[in-house]
Amino acid sequence: MGFKTVFEDCDILVVGGGMGGTGAAYEARYWGRDLKIVVAEKANIDRSGAVAQGLYAINCYMGMQWGENQPEDHVRYARNDLMGMVREDLAYDMARHVDSAVHKFEEWGLPLMRDPKTGRYQREGKWQIMIHGESYKPIVAEAARKSADKIYNRIMVTHLLMDENKSNRVAGAIGFNVRTGALHVFKAKAVIVGAGGASHIFKPRSVGEGMGRTWYAPWSSASAYALPIMAGAKMTQMENRIVLCRFKDGYGPVGAYFLHLKTYTQNAYGEQYESKWYKHTKEMVGEYIDHHPTPTCLRNHAFLQEVAAGRGPIHMVTKEAFQDPHKETVGWENFLGMTVGQAVVWASQDIDPKYINPELTTSEPYVMGSHATCSGAWASGPEDLSPSEYFWGYNRMMTVEGLFGAGDALGGTAHAFSSGSFTEGRLAAKAAVKYIKEHSNEKINVSEKQIEDLRKVIYQPLENYQVGRNEIVGGTVSPSYILPIHGLQRLEKIMDEYVGGITVNYMTNEPLLLRGLEHLRILQEDLDHIGAEDLHQLQRAWELKHRAIASECVAQHTLFRKETRWPGYYYRGDYLRLDDDNWHALTLSRRDPESGEWTMEKAPVYHIVD
Ligand SMILES: Cc1cc2nc3c(=O)[nH]c(=O)nc-3n(C[C@H](O)[C@H](O)[C@H](O)COP(=O)(O)OP(=O)(O)OC[C@H]3O[C@@H](n4cnc5c(N)ncnc54)[C@H](O)[C@@H]3O)c2cc1C
Repeated sequence: MGFKTVFEDCDILVVGGGMGGTGAAYEARYWGRDLKIVVAEKANIDRSGAVAQGLYAINCYMGMQWGENQPEDHVRYARNDLMGMVREDLAYDMARHVDSAVHKFEEWGLPLMRDPKTGRYQREGKWQIMIHGESYKPIVAEAARKSADKIYNRIMVTHLLMDENKSNRVAGAIGFNVRTGALHVFKAKAVIVGAGGASHIFKPRSVGEGMGRTWYAPWSSASAYALPIMAGAKMTQMENRIVLCRFKDGYGPVGAYFLHLKTYTQNAYGEQYESKWYKHTKEMVGEYIDHHPTPTCLRNHAFLQEVAAGRGPIHMVTKEAFQDPHKETVGWENFLGMTVGQAVVWASQDIDPKYINPELTTSEPYVMGSHATCSGAWASGPEDLSPSEYFWGYNRMMTVEGLFGAGDALGGTAHAFSSGSFTEGRLAAKAAVKYIKEHSNEKINVSEKQIEDLRKVIYQPLENYQVGRNEIVGGTVSPSYILPIHGLQRLEKIMDEYVGGITVNYMTNEPLLLRGLEHLRILQEDLDHIGAEDLHQLQRAWELKHRAIASECVAQHTLFRKETRWPGYYYRGDYLRLDDDNWHALTLSRRDPESGEWTMEKAPVYHIVD
């Protein structure tokens, strides 16, 4: 294919200019005044990533200046919500720095609401502060633009480049421009991956014309996991997928409703139902059900049980709160700042929450490491906090040298959200600068062959299409290739039916997982024959390949953890109880880049906060 090649040599390459990526670009410049800092983003950083549409709340702010919370409180909170399983060193490190990131956002022009009585930021809940956040993303993007030497928008990064002088060391990344098709080769001394989470790996509830609608951003295509996995990095907690309780059909957020408007849920008959499932849940998870606040997965569990018992749908009781004009305004504004679609759905379904209590639903599972769950790459913690097993020289560096991560990309750090992801980007960048300075005498080497081999692989879907389409005499089905949409639907169906999606009420077991892995292997074989008719489809093809690799990792982890740690997120039918004796541990995986074989192990959970 006759696409031109663009070479860029830099010190730090940031892959993905979302919350983590913009934080990384900003901080890299602070510590590395003389370094060349480049961002490669598949969309446009002004409106990319999970915050593209804006947010109504910053979900992670300690408020240390007013003594509201301390980092240890946040570690306890995240640990509790994740049924004990977080990297406390990473969580503490993020929490002790997050306030300063939020103060920067305000300085840069983000309107933060203030409590008129106290003058402090307006709290939505213990951790959340309310913002007029439609322009949140352009504001942090501006800081990144002013810091980086160059921002490359519209570059879909497909692979990391590896150093040929030193094994297990990253040397940059490669991808293509989704508009021009040009091949972009970035050689870099350190790479920070901030490429977001994974939606559309499980079949969504929205089907047909609504298929693109998911709770997590539909463009979060698992690159943050696939890129490190393909480079041989260790991953952690990939089984820890999240299922959200959200407003039906629009996936509209419920945080402001529960926390600020004090709305509550009830079953179809107007009954409170959560307490009914207390005894049943206690038998599964023991004392975790007595924790406060109740872990999110266990609230989901009660919801699912109540619906399975035939007393659905579950409603959010809005009729009372919406009688107050202030609360009514907040309820609507909450959507307008971040999920306009929910307001449109209600309008189209004749739902005025002042008179009708809207239905809630549980979403399909998503994989991510920054919201309320903590899947992602296994990374070193900070020097002053981490137990020796969790520390290998540079904060947020993965098990591949020179490769760092932030936000959804990193495992173990739940409840970081937008502000925490930005903070992690800053922490990763500071460490990456240190890494570069301490390895200044090392030269990275990326051979012509490595680039040429990848060039062939990257454009292969275009070739597959061009050659294969000649065999078609009518319609669009080819004997020689599959299209990205077909592959995506197949992936979603496999994950849904075998790995615990909505169709099976989030239930799986060993035989299902083993069969699911076989299906995923066959899918991988077929993905070598994926066909892309244009550059847009080439991007879809690569997003699918990334989703497929991440999905395999999710299935492997789910198979490995022989317990049901998070009822309400997923169930192992063959191990229906939480098993602290054997599984109070983090799960780790590594995929051998040569053979594609997976190795699994446990890592201890260190509680560094009482
Ligand atoms: C529906 C929803 C509601 C949320 N609500 C809140 C809230 O109220 N408050 C709050 O604080 N947080 C909220 N969050 C969480 C917050 O948005 C995330 O924690 C945060 O955006 C994660 O940052 P990140 O950098 O990991 O990923 P993102 O911000 O998603 O950025 C990832 C970036 O990588 C790019 N990218 C992906 N793949 C590639 C590739 N292959 N090559 C190049 N670039 C690539 C993407 O285009 C994107 O720009 C919400 C998230 C969602 C989805």
